[in-house]
Amino acid sequence: MATEVVRMVCPNLKCRALLTAPVAARGKVVRCRKCGTKVHIPETAPVKTDAANDAKTV
Ligand SMILES: [Zn+2]
Repeated sequence: MATEVVRMVCPNLKCRALLTAPVAARGKVVRCRKCGTKVHIPETAPVKTDAANDAKTV
């Protein structure tokens, strides 16, 4: 049960509902359940864990 989902906040400032969509829906447009605003799901994950930037102190 490792179904990854993409999380984003509704761009409608009056709504700002937390939306979740399956990763399979990346690059597509979904509608907010609350207000019906169309939300574009980014193809790449917004959160990136890149450890190469940090200076290592060994
Ligand atoms: Zn909304």
